[in-house]
Amino acid sequence: MVASMGWQWRKKKNIPGGLWTKCPGCGAMLQRKKVDETFGVCTECQFHFKIGARQRIASLIDDGTFAEIATDLETKDPLGFGGYSDTLERSRKKSGVDEAAVAGHGKLDGIPVGIAALDFNFVGGSMGVVVGTRVMLAAELALERRIPLVVVSTSGGARMQEGALSLMQMAKTSAAIARLGEAGLPYVSVLADPCTGGVIASYAALGDVILAEPHALVGYAGPRVIQTTIGAQLPEGFQKAEFLLDHGFVDRIVPRPQMKAEIATCLRYFSARDDRRRRLEGLELAATAVAKPPQPD
Ligand SMILES: [Zn+2]
Repeated sequence: MVASMGWQWRKKKNIPGGLWTKCPGCGAMLQRKKVDETFGVCTECQFHFKIGARQRIASLIDDGTFAEIATDLETKDPLGFGGYSDTLERSRKKSGVDEAAVAGHGKLDGIPVGIAALDFNFVGGSMGVVVGTRVMLAAELALERRIPLVVVSTSGGARMQEGALSLMQMAKTSAAIARLGEAGLPYVSVLADPCTGGVIASYAALGDVILAEPHALVGYAGPRVIQTTIGAQLPEGFQKAEFLLDHGFVDRIVPRPQMKAEIATCLRYFSARDDRRRRLEGLELAATAVAKPPQPD
């Protein structure tokens, strides 16, 4: 369920409005315009601000190549959850997106990819029916076009206002990723701060390659919840990307300015590997044909 720990964190560390903003990492006063230009990375200390889904896609996808899909999906209030429609309205105004995920396809350093990005400003990036469906449709598009999939996740977890329907998105997205895997298509999962709950417990943890931004909080329940439950002190840096890299959960930590190049390198590696395999299979077929010439009747 959507983690309550996300809210305080968000209030403190989001890029605030106005011309200037104070970096939570080093305290420097930064020009808001400059921070936008660097896709939310402090020029003084490299602190990574939270950024929206559209800004995220702009940071990864080549200019003018992004085409959005699944724009006609509408968020429903299946439980009649008190205040949910107001929360949605507020989130739309604040984030500038209509839901916590944007999906589509475009070129990443010239490579065609399916892509989805989550937006923490929209109800804590929580995964309800629309988010799950957009991630699934991005995966299905990748499958149909036989291109790789890239998903950038930042989320407090499943969306509690949609109850069990939001939990079903975990299975739905995971199944879509499994189909990509069966087809031999690569999936790169990028984890941004924070990535928790039902999202990290499903598709976000299933990447063929899992990349994380520096210092991102990644885990199922937040550290405060775990500490209270088990009544013990957690190790230093527990659930931070660096801790998870040391424990084999994350493949690499990549600062945001290098993320696009890093993903492109991964995808080119996979593509070269597949070419090699196809060539070898071709040679094998040819060798079999030579070894067993067609027999006369
Ligand atoms: Zn800074």
